[in-house]
Amino acid sequence: MITINQIPEFRKAIPIIERIEEAGYEAYFVGGGVRDTLLHLPISDVDIASSATPSEIQRIFPVTFDVGIQHGTVMVLYEKKTYEITTFRTESKYENFRRPEKVNYVRSLEEDLKRRDFTINAIAMDRFGNLEDPFDGQTDIEARLIRAVGNPIERFREDALRMMRAARFMSQLGFQVEEKTKEAVLDYHPLLSKIAVERIREEWTKLLIGRNRKGGIRFFVETRLFHMCPGFQNRDKELIDLALFPLQFQTPLTAWTLLVYFLGIPDDEVDGFLRGWKLANKQITNVRKAYHALKIRLDRFWDYALLYETGIKIALEVEEMITGFGMVNDLNHLLEMDKTLPIHRIQDMKINGQEVMHVLGFTRGGPYLGKILADIKDRILAQTLPNDKAQLKEFILKRRFIYLDEVYKKTVQVEGLHLMQETEDFDFPVLGTSALIEFVEDSCKEMMAGVVEEDKISIGTFISLQHSNPALLHRTIVVEVRVKALKEKTVTFSAVVKQDDTILAIGEHTRKVVDKQNFMK
Ligand code: ATP
Ligand code: MG
Repeated sequence: MITINQIPEFRKAIPIIERIEEAGYEAYFVGGGVRDTLLHLPISDVDIASSATPSEIQRIFPVTFDVGIQHGTVMVLYEKKTYEITTFRTESKYENFRRPEKVNYVRSLEEDLKRRDFTINAIAMDRFGNLEDPFDGQTDIEARLIRAVGNPIERFREDALRMMRAARFMSQLGFQVEEKTKEAVLDYHPLLSKIAVERIREEWTKLLIGRNRKGGIRFFVETRLFHMCPGFQNRDKELIDLALFPLQFQTPLTAWTLLVYFLGIPDDEVDGFLRGWKLANKQITNVRKAYHALKIRLDRFWDYALLYETGIKIALEVEEMITGFGMVNDLNHLLEMDKTLPIHRIQDMKINGQEVMHVLGFTRGGPYLGKILADIKDRILAQTLPNDKAQLKEFILKRRFIYLDEVYKKTVQVEGLHLMQETEDFDFPVLGTSALIEFVEDSCKEMMAGVVEEDKISIGTFISLQHSNPALLHRTIVVEVRVKALKEKTVTFSAVVKQDDTILAIGEHTRKVVDKQNFMK
């Protein structure tokens, strides 16, 4: 007997049962709520079982949602709370070891309790707190045992998910699995492969955040259930490491991130692994972010760029995770950093795509826009560029040839002084390589002069040219240079020198940006 009035969740739901009874049907509290109350644990939800069929329930209550009418469940809205009311039913014939599509409704509570998974979950309570416990669930609660209702083999053959639920309850409640029930799991674990991965995932996630994760995972490994799960084949060692990791997982995100970490999944396989478990796209993105940040955080503290990418909510979870590795965390420092983060979202940048286009004189967008905005974002986060509209505009304008991959062209007239000294052997003029080098260097220098800050200059550090054709005297040649690579302070250009359609030379030139003052000295 439970003093029902002392448990607000049940007390508030008593009128629902009264209403069903007034309509001439039976109704009881069942499932986890009753079990957890007997364990003096807080209850997560109040489930109700009734002899009324779903359509009869719908007639009794004005507002209902059919969440699982094919399994006999109707959701009822009462006093701003929702309750799942499931019609008494038996297990009908199982096909392929999966829950049947059709259900058989019955009018007897005892029949309904018989089809429930474990004795601890097969206790019903009426609106006065009287318990109906035909399988001695209370004894098993006291002994802290998870025992199948009836013959475990039959029950697991009916619905193989129950094996996974045993592991989940073990972790959640810190119970042991009764010997015969455990043996049946060991013998019938391959049947789990018949179960939809979404249903397995629900139980696995609850197992991971349970307070006895260690016991739950041990059972999951010992009974070989893990072999039936996506990406777990032969990963027992890693799963045990996860089991022993000294941190209570508070959220599914933390649980999945550390799972991925302990399995050592390469970055480019994380998506595939999580998709195998049918996680929602949003969750996959969050795990990917947390996993990336965790690996960096194990090495060093956050910087603005990493915090921006990760977002404060996920970052705080990662900061909790590192305590499991014996590291000291600093949530306050992280929160402070977030307060001074120059931008939290791309929209916080003081320049947008339209304005970038305008600065560059374009009327159309394209991949270049994303590239520019990403570069600007990185610089703002690295604090090398202030988030100030005028300064951002000026910066973009200066770097246009880099951003737009523009070719810088310089035209020069070929004169006698550019010719090679030792050209007497030839009966046509040959443009000297040293002159070519000078043309290329000059072009690059001019291009750089437009971009470097007032107090900086660029100096050439490397040049290589393949000079393959002679040039005609008194005609123009065109030097074309473009940025090939850009590292912090060094720019590498590729160069082509042409006369009409003939390529005279191709090559590469590198320049380094230095302080004007220092260089002069
Ligand atoms: P939680 O606290 O996580 O809600 P719960 O025991 O209420 O735990 P639910 O999944 O909400 O678990 O299921 C409610 C009840 O329905 C269970 O207590 C059990 O009696 C029954 N049940 C759920 N799934 C199964 C199943 N696969 N086979 C048999 N009975 C089940
Ligand atoms: Mg429940």
